[in-house]
Amino acid sequence: MIKLGDFEISRVEEVVLDEPTSLFTPWTEEVLAEHRHWMAPNFYNEDRQVLFSTIQTWILKTPERTIVIDTSGGNDKDRPLSPRFHKLATDFPKKLRAAGVDPETVDMVILTHLHVDHVGWNTRLDGDNWVPMFPKADYVVSATELEVRDPKRGAAARPPGSWNTYNDSVLPILEAGLARIVGGTEMLLPGVELVPIPGHAPGQMGVKARSGGQEALFIADVMHSPIQIYHPDWNSKFCENQDLARETRAKVLGYAAETGALILPGHFGWPYCGYVRRAGDGYAFEPSPVVP
Ligand SMILES: [Zn+2]
Repeated sequence: MIKLGDFEISRVEEVVLDEPTSLFTPWTEEVLAEHRHWMAPNFYNEDRQVLFSTIQTWILKTPERTIVIDTSGGNDKDRPLSPRFHKLATDFPKKLRAAGVDPETVDMVILTHLHVDHVGWNTRLDGDNWVPMFPKADYVVSATELEVRDPKRGAAARPPGSWNTYNDSVLPILEAGLARIVGGTEMLLPGVELVPIPGHAPGQMGVKARSGGQEALFIADVMHSPIQIYHPDWNSKFCENQDLARETRAKVLGYAAETGALILPGHFGWPYCGYVRRAGDGYAFEPSPVVP
């Protein structure tokens, strides 16, 4: 757990996936040679020659509220187009409780964007029905993301298999009246603010947390691996708008280096978060000395 003023930050891990280096088109042996001394073993596995993607949920506790940021892949979901998330059967709910989070009393769920690995535990299977996992929470969701994922609107031309995520993990939240639809820039609670970080997904939102003069920034998938701190123009193959993703990454890196804010990305390996420091003309990664 990380203390940020009066706030507490922790995480619940669903699964750690092997991520082929083809995640980054410009990946080369030369880049690996230059960076392996810090990338292995936490961000790169030498034996299997893969990167890692941690699939996790961030927990932000203020003195009054429990906030969940993104909800991993979820159990029992039919994912024909995302085999890595097809019919998962993890003990995520048990881990959530072990981390001191009772789903029944979570106040807010912030969905940074609506990709398959960020919305799964929005719902759980109850008999044949998908029901909200966090029944008393406001689910904060971007209007832009809803528009582009809705099979009746922006996603109409996408393959039907891609609609499952919306249908089993987003629609039940809307139907239950739990969605708080936002534009991407909003003060949610004292010290908890949404900031737009579009590109990887059109409506992707970051969460800025401030307490006791300290700042943390949940940046979702602005970066998948800290190698992108050294190569800010590297997008992942999952970035939907490549130019905008680069522009946002440049802004986030500049902001992080200038303010010294703790950066909490969606998928980094251990210790899962850290700081961006200026180094020559570019940046370097300083892993957090405290593990959330
Ligand atoms: Zn992701």
